[in-house]
Amino acid sequence: MTGKNSVGFNFSALGTYTFQTFNPVDNSYNETLFVEAVSEEIEEAVALASNAFEELKGISHLKRAAFLEQIAINLNENEAQILACNLNESGLTLERARIEMKRTLFQLTSFSELVKENNWREPSIDRANPDRIPSKPDLRKLLVGIGPVVVFGASNFPLAYSTIGGDSVAALAAGCPVIVKSHPLHAGTGELVAHCVIDAAKKSGMPNGIFSNLNGQRFEVGNQLVMHPLVKAVGFTGSIKGGRALFDLANQRPEPIPVFAEMGSVNPVIILPNSLEKKIDEWSTMYADSMSASCGQFCTNPGLLFSVKSNASDVFIKQLTKKLLHKEAQTMLHPSIHASFNRLKADRLEVEDLLYFEKEGEIGVNSGRQTIAVVSGKVFQENPSLEEEIFGPFSLVVECESMNEIIACLKNLNGQLTASVLGEVDEMNEHLNLLKLLQNKVGRIVFNGVPTGVEVCPSMHHGGPYPASTDSRFTAVGVDSIKRFARPIAFQNCPNELLPLELQESNPLNINRREG
Ligand code: NAP
Repeated sequence: MTGKNSVGFNFSALGTYTFQTFNPVDNSYNETLFVEAVSEEIEEAVALASNAFEELKGISHLKRAAFLEQIAINLNENEAQILACNLNESGLTLERARIEMKRTLFQLTSFSELVKENNWREPSIDRANPDRIPSKPDLRKLLVGIGPVVVFGASNFPLAYSTIGGDSVAALAAGCPVIVKSHPLHAGTGELVAHCVIDAAKKSGMPNGIFSNLNGQRFEVGNQLVMHPLVKAVGFTGSIKGGRALFDLANQRPEPIPVFAEMGSVNPVIILPNSLEKKIDEWSTMYADSMSASCGQFCTNPGLLFSVKSNASDVFIKQLTKKLLHKEAQTMLHPSIHASFNRLKADRLEVEDLLYFEKEGEIGVNSGRQTIAVVSGKVFQENPSLEEEIFGPFSLVVECESMNEIIACLKNLNGQLTASVLGEVDEMNEHLNLLKLLQNKVGRIVFNGVPTGVEVCPSMHHGGPYPASTDSRFTAVGVDSIKRFARPIAFQNCPNELLPLELQESNPLNINRREG
């Protein structure tokens, strides 16, 4: 580990500001001093990325696919070292880190396949018709990479949503160079992963500048990157506060650029009343497991549960509380995240007429104390801040007088990544208005399940109306996420030999095209 920035293929440490990562289990700093990138290095990384973007246009898609595969090979070869560093910087368990690594590798191979097939560019051909009045020109269209992309990863996914996580791999697959603003809480993991990416770039004949990894603990590095005129898009995964700040910043540029921010969510779960009576045990177990997975530090953590008040709902809350509080408290990612969890929770528990049940007794250092709070539908509607995310093992149960009151609560809810409905089909049919309402509010509706566990596949949608994301039209998970970093270009009456191969008359790449 060097603590240096990767500016294209070069290691660089021109700055004087340094920081360390932290081991939340040992409650101690890790050794390496990471040197924050300075203006000169940021300029260099962006200039190299801009040149690499031009060079990439002359490099075949098959070579780009091979690059992504080579990254996966390098990560596999260095897995032990990367995971060890990841655990030291996050407090996550080895099992969780292994799952995340698998997911990262899967993302790389599925994007590599996508690039090989080359159909993601949506080639479209409308041939000329000189006999039509007025005559119709020849028009051909396809998607091209948007330009250099800056990626901000989240603290809770050091691998799958960070250095070579979903945003970076989607951008590279689209032919866009990537500059990562490394997450300071796992800068070491970021550096080791960046070395794998850069080695793969060299082995696969990619241009210098296709990938840079810059350290930054203070906001200046990220801000300068977002404001740089040669940067053409931003991928962000993190808090609403951070995502919104970068979105606003990008909109102040002389040339605004898209910021695809995937942010926090409370992922409401609605239990239909008749079914609750039959499945108290099953659903309380499922919910307790979901909200405590990785100490509740998931953007898909179920933070809000709606039920109609009844004897069954009282029993359900008792069972849920018992099951949740019996679990071992887990270490959170960092003392700052732990402190923020405790602070937000303490404020929340101050709300009048709110009941809560919290894990008691001694727990480990930096561990999150699981908590269930309960309010009535009336109190929920009177306190709009109750819907805000508390990142960690916290969930609020809202007991309503009726399904109508649940719907009234949901109507005022902000956009969400997901909503889940627990119930049987007959009962769901009686509440089609609920399902219609949820379609306006969320990116994914889960039936009889919990929101945690985001499958990576083409039919997944991970995003949602603001503030779940800044652009609800796009997913951050699955191969469709490539569309965030591509833009359409049309060629009108372009001579055949000057067209991209994907659009030439003889279809030399033998790909599927929409032809009219
Ligand atoms: P975060 O504090 O927003 O940090 C994310 C990144 O953004 C970091 O690199 C951070 O830099 C940077 N950043 C934050 N505020 C900034 C600002 N004002 N200006 C410039 N850069 C800024 O989030 P986090 O604590 O790492 O992650 C937890 C959050 O992410 C939770 O809310 C969770 O729900 C959400 N999340 C969402 C998804 C999703 O797909 N929707 C997935 C995972 C997590 P610094 O570290 O230097 O502050």
